[in-house]
Amino acid sequence: MYDIAIIGLGPAGATIARLLDKRFRIIAIDKKSADDNTAFQKPCGGLLAADAQKALSKFNLTLPKAVLVDPQIFAVKTIDSKQMLLRYYQRFYINLDRHKFDMWLISLIPEHVRIENQAVCTSIRKKGEIYEVSYLKDRGEKTITARHIIGADGSNSIVRRILFPNQSICRYLSIQQWFPEQHITPFYSCIFDSDITDSYCWSISKSGFFILGGAFPPKTGKQSFELLKQKLNKQGFIFGTPLKTEACLVSMPKGLSSFYTGKDRAFLLGEAAGFISPSSLEGISYAFNSAHALARILNSGCADPARKYRVNSLPIRIKLLLKHFKSPFMYKPLLRKLVMKSGLCSISILEQ
Ligand SMILES: Cc1cc2nc3c(=O)[nH]c(=O)nc-3n(C[C@H](O)[C@H](O)[C@H](O)COP(=O)(O)OP(=O)(O)OC[C@H]3O[C@@H](n4cnc5c(N)ncnc54)[C@H](O)[C@@H]3O)c2cc1C
Repeated sequence: MYDIAIIGLGPAGATIARLLDKRFRIIAIDKKSADDNTAFQKPCGGLLAADAQKALSKFNLTLPKAVLVDPQIFAVKTIDSKQMLLRYYQRFYINLDRHKFDMWLISLIPEHVRIENQAVCTSIRKKGEIYEVSYLKDRGEKTITARHIIGADGSNSIVRRILFPNQSICRYLSIQQWFPEQHITPFYSCIFDSDITDSYCWSISKSGFFILGGAFPPKTGKQSFELLKQKLNKQGFIFGTPLKTEACLVSMPKGLSSFYTGKDRAFLLGEAAGFISPSSLEGISYAFNSAHALARILNSGCADPARKYRVNSLPIRIKLLLKHFKSPFMYKPLLRKLVMKSGLCSISILEQ
């Protein structure tokens, strides 16, 4: 019997596991592995935005060099491929190896937390005051019980689906393909094309690889991705033979009702709670901040932690709502055209 079971050790789960008091008996169940390259790795752009950097500084954490990758880029080439518009915007991302970043966060978890890695949570049952959690590990099924459960298991959260089936959230299919980098100058890009997706696509140069990705309505995702490649190829992008293709769901909050933080003694953190920017799909900072908020509440021994967490995570929801209002300027072709044509906030680049 544990006090707390954490499902998922991405930035949200690893952070709460690090911050919870020693007095709790904690188990954390996660699919990833530090040693086995064939185990699950989270598909991600691996760009650490300014807000996530701020959260790390509040945690008094400094990034080890081992999680950084080449090169560090300070501008995003923004392309509206239907309206043939191009602008550059300054950005302050840190270019990371996402898997190494996740593993570094896990390495900071104190020893009193029992970590079950390469383990997949398969079911959760509420039995009176207790949660019974089953997971697959080493080809066998194990079951534990816990008084509190924390769903930090990302977009396709089993905790959200099983315990809160009425709290569904819109999700898109995200596809990323890796190629050998062949461009003379590495770059980031952000691509809008309403024939391909009503969200956006991106490319990232990372340690000798060129990654093309995008978020698509799930039914047409694969075809849209191929169409994207064809279009970009004509616009000078170089792809070659794909080395790796990865796909996963990504949450697309459409308003306040998309966010859900939990009830009784079951809580949702990070993307499982719907905390991801609907405009940029940046999610690491919200994972950090929601984990911090819940850790403080549980450590304080508050009588109604679910209510307190709902209230204390209000700033996160308000911030995301403001991002939602910003979305039309990125995603509505006419508004985007006006913004891009005006050159507002853009920078000039000397093309080589
Ligand atoms: C393609 C793509 C690119 C992105 N690029 C960026 C970016 O550049 N910068 C940025 O800030 N955000 C980016 N995001 C969003 C960001 O990845 C997420 O919002 C962020 O990782 C959320 O953190 P989390 O801890 O809530 O969930 P996750 O990072 O998704 O972690 C959840 C973890 O739970 C584990 N898990 C899930 N289900 C189970 C289960 N049943 N049993 C056991 N373990 C389980 C998995 O190991 C997983 O790693 C991107 C998202 C996608 C899909």
